[in-house]
Amino acid sequence: MNLVLLSTPIGFLGSGKGGGVELTLNSLVSGLLSMGHNIKVVAPQHSKLNESNNSADLYCVDGFEQESWQHKDYFAKDITSKGSLVHTMFEKAVSFVNNSDVILNFSYDFLPINETLKFDIPIAHLISMGDESFEISNVISKVYKRYPNNFAFHSLSQARDFPFIQNPNIVGNGFELSNYKFQDCKDGPLAWVGRVAPEKGLEDAVHVANELGEKLKVWGFIQDQKYAANIEKNYPKGLISWQGFLETNELQLELGKCRALINTPKWNEAYGNVVVEAMSCGVPVVAYERGGPSELINHGETGFLVPPDDKKSLTLVVKRINEISRKKCREWVEENASSKIFANKVSNWLERVVNGYKIKN
Ligand code: UDP
Repeated sequence: MNLVLLSTPIGFLGSGKGGGVELTLNSLVSGLLSMGHNIKVVAPQHSKLNESNNSADLYCVDGFEQESWQHKDYFAKDITSKGSLVHTMFEKAVSFVNNSDVILNFSYDFLPINETLKFDIPIAHLISMGDESFEISNVISKVYKRYPNNFAFHSLSQARDFPFIQNPNIVGNGFELSNYKFQDCKDGPLAWVGRVAPEKGLEDAVHVANELGEKLKVWGFIQDQKYAANIEKNYPKGLISWQGFLETNELQLELGKCRALINTPKWNEAYGNVVVEAMSCGVPVVAYERGGPSELINHGETGFLVPPDDKKSLTLVVKRINEISRKKCREWVEENASSKIFANKVSNWLERVVNGYKIKN
């Protein structure tokens, strides 16, 4: 197929602002290229694809940035105008319609979903978050009535946030496993990885580290400085060891030396890339039984799941982390979440979408 991938307008690829979507898009491109698909990627100015993906064509577009939907009021309206990135990127993507089979949209945004009804070419949407906006859920529901096949989700927990979706397409996610080295060190530090923003619940992981009298190594883009400073203020100096935002190559090397990843999202995480990245390096994960991570961790086998927001239980299971076989963590990823498995699922879904249009027209 000739595929056009429309990236998120939140941050350029490589910035960390776009969160998991940045890695997801890159590993999907690599999986789809190896299947023989032709790929164009439309992304914000300054974006970079992984070197191994250089046979995909990258088109960088300029425009005004916007705030992520999860950081706005739930009932906020779409206020993007013609010059905003989502508009300029969408215009670029549709300029390729004559030579493409399908546009695959990664942006959690009103415009590309709404425009689906106006085009003869399929526009498929890999939804990256749960129900974070009334406006977005409404437009999904409107387009879903005409094109039920055009939506896919990363996990069942995520799809359940949209109760009108029947039999959701669940594609999981995928990781280029050769980029993650397995490390078998059972006495390393505790880790937390993610965008530093309220929905990610860093404060709970810091609480656990404090209870255990250990430092917490924190990797990720600080999206909300005030939130980060507030957490720091409430704990002893030096408890949080800020490691900054690293590229995958460096991140996995450092993460692999850790004893456990503490994953503490407060929202219904769509998937949880960092959970699987940790397991790829052999690092077991302790997390709340909520959202994507609850489908990724096998309790007692690749980590532990505890009731949501129960910090006491979280602390107790971190103490038991060496009961987990690090090899089993890596094996789970190999069997369930390689970029090849992910690309296969997405490709099958997109074929169904394209065939559906052929029948309709
Ligand atoms: N990440 C990274 N470098 C860092 C910290 C995080 O590249 O130092 C990436 C990580 O690989 C993951 C993403 O940030 O792909 C976070 O994705 P996740 O799905 O966990 O959460 P999201 O930010 O999408 O809510």
